[in-house]
Amino acid sequence: MEGDVPKGILKTQEKIGLINLDYELLYIEKYISKVSRASGKELRQLPVMTSRNCPHNCVFCYVQDRTYRFQDPKESIEELKRLKRRYGIKSIKFAEDNFFVNKNRVEELCKMMIKENLNFEWATECRADYFDRYDDEFLKLITKAGCKRLGIGVEFGSQRMLDFVKKDITIKQILNSAKLCNEYKIYPHYSFIMGMPEEEKEDMMMTVKLIEEIYKICPIAIGGINLFRPYPPQFKKAFEAANLKEPESLEEWTNPEYINIMTTENPLLWSKHNTLAKNIAFYSQFYFFNWDRFMIYYRKSKVMALCLSLMIIATRIRWKLRFFGLPIEKYISKYVSKVMKG
Ligand code: SF4
Repeated sequence: MEGDVPKGILKTQEKIGLINLDYELLYIEKYISKVSRASGKELRQLPVMTSRNCPHNCVFCYVQDRTYRFQDPKESIEELKRLKRRYGIKSIKFAEDNFFVNKNRVEELCKMMIKENLNFEWATECRADYFDRYDDEFLKLITKAGCKRLGIGVEFGSQRMLDFVKKDITIKQILNSAKLCNEYKIYPHYSFIMGMPEEEKEDMMMTVKLIEEIYKICPIAIGGINLFRPYPPQFKKAFEAANLKEPESLEEWTNPEYINIMTTENPLLWSKHNTLAKNIAFYSQFYFFNWDRFMIYYRKSKVMALCLSLMIIATRIRWKLRFFGLPIEKYISKYVSKVMKG
């Protein structure tokens, strides 16, 4: 087994070249964002992939291939240099399933980014438990190499649910990741899931509590709750719980009943607490709101910033009271966005 990887999880790990994209064949401008999602600054950003797949076993995840593969860091650096030279890229989103599986690879990559003076800022995903094996030296290295934002899948505030979905992380590890991100000024984006058939009201309230604790430890954190979308093989169980007939053809999947499951209109028919889950998820987008993020909206529109302030205040009160019924603000905001869209 190669590299410093979490023990007992890796089936195979191959250092083989991924297919190198010929960017000349693409309308590259279509893939370049003008604003970097790593920092919110106006920097040309492109998604890049240097590894593929993930060795973990989270049951809800769409990644099914456990064979982790990664590009030789030297090749990755050559590609990054080309992107900078040809297209003026200044920010990278490492759009991979699990960037940090092999710590040695990341170290090598970061050292080369610094040596080559690439000066990128970058964002990617990381697991909360990985922070247990990150020391000061490693965290300083990745920030020096440009790491600005990390997406961290927390999923649930209930250890029972975390174990049930085989996430293989603990609440303590999640809080440790928040502490370290705050210390090293890496902006974490915490994502949560709500509305699995097996999730009880108490589990949902534990997620509410965990969000509160994370924000206290790390006020630079952002995040939100996503409604559970059942990917295979999970959808069989969810459809059974919802008394939904499993679609038998590709055409049947185009029925709005199924398409909605993949949108914010997801009815969560399989959840006993679907209204509560949908309300909490709605308010969660206003919970993680720090000053920097608020100012981005303020610069765009003062009216928008005022509406946002009211939503943030309402959300904070609801969070404190643990009250998510009668979601008047939700109806008003839906109405306003409908009117604005015309
Ligand atoms: S959720 Fe993340 S850690 Fe879990 S299997 Fe999927 S990619 Fe891997």
